Amino acid sequence: RAYRSWEIKKVRTTCPHCATGCQYDLIVKDGRIVDTEAADGPTNHGLLCVKGRSASFDFVQSDRRLKTPLIRSSVTGELEPASWDEALDLVARKFTELRDKFGGESLAAFACARSANEDIYMLQKMARTVFKTNNVDNCARVCHGPSVAGLQRTLGSGAMTNPISDICENAEVVVLVGSNPEEAHPVIGMQLRAAIRRGLKLIVVDPRDIGLAQSAQIHLKLRPGTNVAFANGIVRQLIHDGLIDQEFIRTRTEGFEDLKAMVEAYTPERVAEICRIDSRDLIAAARMYGEAKRAAIVYCLGVTEHSSGTEGVMALSNMAMVTGKYGRPGCGINPLRGQNNVQGACDMGASPGDMTGYQKIAQPGIVEKFEKAWGTELPRFKGLYATDCFPKMIEGAVKGLFIFGEDPVRTDPDTHHVIKALKNLDFLVVDDLFLTETAKYADVVLPGRSYAEKEGTFSNTERRVQRIRRAVTIEGTRADTDIFIDIMNRMGYPQPRLTPAEIMDEIASVTPSFAGISHARLDSPEVKGEGLQWPCTGKDHPGTPILHVGKFTRGLGRYSTAAYRESSELPDADYPLMLTTGRVLYHYNACAMTDKTEGINEISGHSFIEINTKDAANLGIENGDRVVVSSRRGRIESVAHVSGKTNAGETWMPFHFQDGNCNWLTKAALDNICSTPEYKVCAVKVEKAGAA
Ligand code: SF4
Repeated sequence: RAYRSWEIKKVRTTCPHCATGCQYDLIVKDGRIVDTEAADGPTNHGLLCVKGRSASFDFVQSDRRLKTPLIRSSVTGELEPASWDEALDLVARKFTELRDKFGGESLAAFACARSANEDIYMLQKMARTVFKTNNVDNCARVCHGPSVAGLQRTLGSGAMTNPISDICENAEVVVLVGSNPEEAHPVIGMQLRAAIRRGLKLIVVDPRDIGLAQSAQIHLKLRPGTNVAFANGIVRQLIHDGLIDQEFIRTRTEGFEDLKAMVEAYTPERVAEICRIDSRDLIAAARMYGEAKRAAIVYCLGVTEHSSGTEGVMALSNMAMVTGKYGRPGCGINPLRGQNNVQGACDMGASPGDMTGYQKIAQPGIVEKFEKAWGTELPRFKGLYATDCFPKMIEGAVKGLFIFGEDPVRTDPDTHHVIKALKNLDFLVVDDLFLTETAKYADVVLPGRSYAEKEGTFSNTERRVQRIRRAVTIEGTRADTDIFIDIMNRMGYPQPRLTPAEIMDEIASVTPSFAGISHARLDSPEVKGEGLQWPCTGKDHPGTPILHVGKFTRGLGRYSTAAYRESSELPDADYPLMLTTGRVLYHYNACAMTDKTEGINEISGHSFIEINTKDAANLGIENGDRVVVSSRRGRIESVAHVSGKTNAGETWMPFHFQDGNCNWLTKAALDNICSTPEYKVCAVKVEKAGAA
């Protein structure tokens, strides 16, 4: 990586891995990216993690990039190179035929949460204007769908309430629930550690000994799947200790008496039994949170990826609401969104029930507004969530699917079920950078572009819209927005070719919460490279760092009275251990980008399973042994990491790796409100590999 300053150009952009939204410069020499250099962005302040530093451009220039469209040959059955015209003509013809014969309900589209807001907007516009379907979704369905659903129900807005820097600088206490930021959102983890050194008190609620647990005042190492019982127990204790904010409850919320009656059953003793924690720790945690003037709840997939995920989110929101910890610095409820632009994918209307900016299809006048703006009739039926599409594919009700930048064969639960569904489709199109496991089942594969090859914007976890900028061109690929526009035109909708800046102007024109956002403004000295946090309702609006100041988005805050329910599958005699899954520092999700960097693979290249020392001894397994892990749905091989990180009876696996992919084991039990799968709890058996 040797270069001299006069040989290079620097292109300021946003990291494509996690939703922290770190800013850095891509260093370009002779048309190739040779390095990254941290910038002083609003969320990273000159910091980067290993992914931002080392895994942000090898994948862009990888020899494995797709550089020509592929069509499955009817003769050989193999994917074979084709021209763009051949591929796009075929895509348009097949989707038109299916739509005309079976209706828009038979088609679906999944948006890419790694791509830009402008791409996602055009993808959902394509689905609605020419596929005539509301079956459009994004990977929030398999992660933070419950945050969107739960916080919209209780607060009226399903997003992080406070900025990262505000939490790290102003909170006295942080309650970190089901979140391991040092691995999943490392730059946030670094800033939390710095805040702890300055006096921040930390309560960790997590089934594993995550790194930050060592610095926590209290670690509630609860049984996976018991978050609702935990939060209900905290609220009961707050009420009994008089640590609630009566004025806030009276003036800002509704339904408190129902909540109070419901939580009364969650005594510390009962919660301790359900969660397998010490009741004294629960009481101490309630007091630490309740007594703090400023305390923030920060959570991640350990809360959402349960069949009761939405109820878990709403139960946490109850804690903040009864203590009046909303609409103020250092407070609120803060889902750390996963993929770099999964917040944007939700914001841009890649959801079955929402147009852009969470404008509800079911709300009178919304579809009509978009019909007027887009000049065509739009579907009105209730669309399917992505996870509900798979059973419909198996039934034959969904026949055509366009997947933009997602790899459900690797990322969705119960891989056998996913493959069976994809194989049953009449027509599958995948637009991606690589021939992914999912693309191998496609009828047409289209080579799209990465973040480093396009102009646009990402929305980070704190609703901050930031720019990405083109640094290089990879021959043979096509801008994803142009792919969607070409298909729209071929299917009879006259969509003019627009630049990403013009697309953002269109987004602003139809989306009140984005009305003040444009590329020109984001690039202007006024914004100072800080981005704009939505809602940003006009050209002079400064953006909204803290939500719900003075009033909740829905008016009065609403409590959840959901009771604790057990997970859908618990250990039994046949499958005696509980499996939960998560991330490691070096990779992101299905390694779509990170595993193209050899140095990263050398450090962290293979699957493993964490197993408690006692369980390992009982099973005759030693640290480093190869093991067979099986569930009712599948069987994989992995490597045992034996320690006390998980409690006895519980195991943990990273979900990144294709060898020993834990999603052959996980269960597609879905959240009862928003259909997010229960990745975090299933029952497994672990045996030493080669044992009889
Ligand atoms: Fe990228 Fe997230 Fe690391 Fe920042 S913390 S450099 S956004 S992966």
